[in-house]
Amino acid sequence: MRRTFTVFSWALSALTALTTGLFSASTWANEQVINLYSARHYPTDEALYKDFTKATGIKINRVDSDDAGIIARLKAEGSASPADVILLVDASRLWKGEVDGMFLPVMSKTLETAVPVQLRAKTTDKGSTAWFGLSTRARVVVYDKLKVKREDVDTYEELADPKNKGKLCIRSGSHPYNLSLFGAMTEHLGPVATEAWLKDMVDNMAREPKGGDTDQIKAVASGECGIAVTNSYYLARLMRSTNPADKAVVERVGVVFPNQQSWGTHVNVAGGAVARYSKNPANTVKFLEYLVSPEAQNHFANGNNEWPVVKGLKLDNPALKAMTGGDFKSELMPISAVGMNQIKVQQMLDRVGFK
Ligand code: FE
Repeated sequence: MRRTFTVFSWALSALTALTTGLFSASTWANEQVINLYSARHYPTDEALYKDFTKATGIKINRVDSDDAGIIARLKAEGSASPADVILLVDASRLWKGEVDGMFLPVMSKTLETAVPVQLRAKTTDKGSTAWFGLSTRARVVVYDKLKVKREDVDTYEELADPKNKGKLCIRSGSHPYNLSLFGAMTEHLGPVATEAWLKDMVDNMAREPKGGDTDQIKAVASGECGIAVTNSYYLARLMRSTNPADKAVVERVGVVFPNQQSWGTHVNVAGGAVARYSKNPANTVKFLEYLVSPEAQNHFANGNNEWPVVKGLKLDNPALKAMTGGDFKSELMPISAVGMNQIKVQQMLDRVGFK
């Protein structure tokens, strides 16, 4: 049976823990440390963890890996896993962790209030939620200002239009960022039209998929590609760089937030969950709640150029402002739906030869 962790108050949860024996005595002694399995490979997050420790006295013991590595490790460790909190950087991966039973669903009014319903796992009948989005990133289109007209790339559908033949650069279709985008397209267009769209995108490619998102942006700037697909923060990082080579890249490329006239730009989440066998669920939920505080949310925006999930915060990230002109329309479909589509999408990619 899956456990569910409810937070009423820290005092109450501590009392409950003692009376129900949910935590072992040794856990109790160790509870001022939580073990963090993080796929957030951003050095700026270090400051975030330090601030939490300063505020609460709870130390963060961090284990870095990529998302696949974390899931594999959790599986291998099973119920002996020391993991308390898990941070992953894509909705399809969070969904996979959820269906594989890696998470301990929680009830937290703070998290439920802070995180919009479309940016977290579906809440169960019992009222618990397996994971919460903590920051968002948009999947945007970058184009060569010298060769491509903005109006020719302002929808995802146009990436597959014959007018853009030979221009498209994109990382592997099987990468979770693309699986999520294509999963969202499957929701918007239906599977038949999405598969045709994927096939036509393959026909428009300037080269076979290779490299990461930043490589695609640089390939546009070098003239190898006319159009690329990237997560917004990779472009923002280049925009804030003082390196002359990065400045030259930014000078050459334009950016579009696609589908502003229809369903809005595809937005993915980085999110967090309590590990299924956490020995410190109370402190772990406390950490997740800290991550939706205004200070932590601002940190996601300023440190890693993501957007907060919490609404109404004032942002002072110049790159985010410059990219959007202030704000943009994002799709409102529940992000948990994209995970459910990922197997279907992978099969479509195989059929159309999208590597
Ligand atoms: Fe990334």
